[in-house]
Amino acid sequence: MDIKILTPGEVSADGRRQLFARTLLYWFRRHGRDLPWRRTRNPYKVLVSEIMLQQTQVERVKEFYHRFLKRFPTVHELAVATEDDVIEAWEGLGYYNRARNLHKTAQTVVEKYNGEFPDSVDELSDLPGIGRYTAGAIMSFAFLKHAPILDTNVKRVLERVFVKRVHSSQAKQERRLWKLAETIISPTTVWEINQAMMDFGATICSAKNPKCPICPMRSFCIEYEKRKSSQIDIPYDFEQTSLSKAAEPHVPYAADL
Ligand code: SF4
Repeated sequence: MDIKILTPGEVSADGRRQLFARTLLYWFRRHGRDLPWRRTRNPYKVLVSEIMLQQTQVERVKEFYHRFLKRFPTVHELAVATEDDVIEAWEGLGYYNRARNLHKTAQTVVEKYNGEFPDSVDELSDLPGIGRYTAGAIMSFAFLKHAPILDTNVKRVLERVFVKRVHSSQAKQERRLWKLAETIISPTTVWEINQAMMDFGATICSAKNPKCPICPMRSFCIEYEKRKSSQIDIPYDFEQTSLSKAAEPHVPYAADL
């Protein structure tokens, strides 16, 4: 029997989505980063990490995350703090509006929701400084609810793997990607898939130097096929990157730290 090897263009959209989700989970369970905010399902702690990560590198956030939570361990303690105290605890991270919004959000959660974060994207998105991405992150990382996320990393990965050509406006393209992100997660994998897409975009499918030659998606990635057929050189130094060094093994749902 002849076996036909499909090119990425010949794999159906459904087939590509399934392959993507399975490959991503396989990769993440071996190479996902073990980050402190992945060891909690407390929505307040997830929110603090997400707000810090908006404009600050992961390594720097690690240091500030613990310091901030030591000073304001719960949403109640943040809510009753003075703005000066919050700004002081944020010192060194910059972009102080993030701290002001976080403070206001804590006050709203305490006043309006009795200290319990709401578990719907709409209600979360109404809180100061929380957009659709952050709402999705809280929903999926804290409440394990079926909510997609789309940040710069996730957007880049999805566009590269799935999108043949962009004909539409940016807004339309964005809507499509949100839909795509939603179809990739499932109720049982939402936490891992959302975390995995961010890690994958940050460490493998990076903006400037994607590591295509060692990427597990390359057999069905549209961008990889395009680069190969147009003979775009993919600058990548095998010597400098080792997947085994990329991260510690990840333990989902570990105890709250
Ligand atoms: Fe990204 Fe290259 Fe992997 Fe495609 S093959 S997902 S472009 S790293």
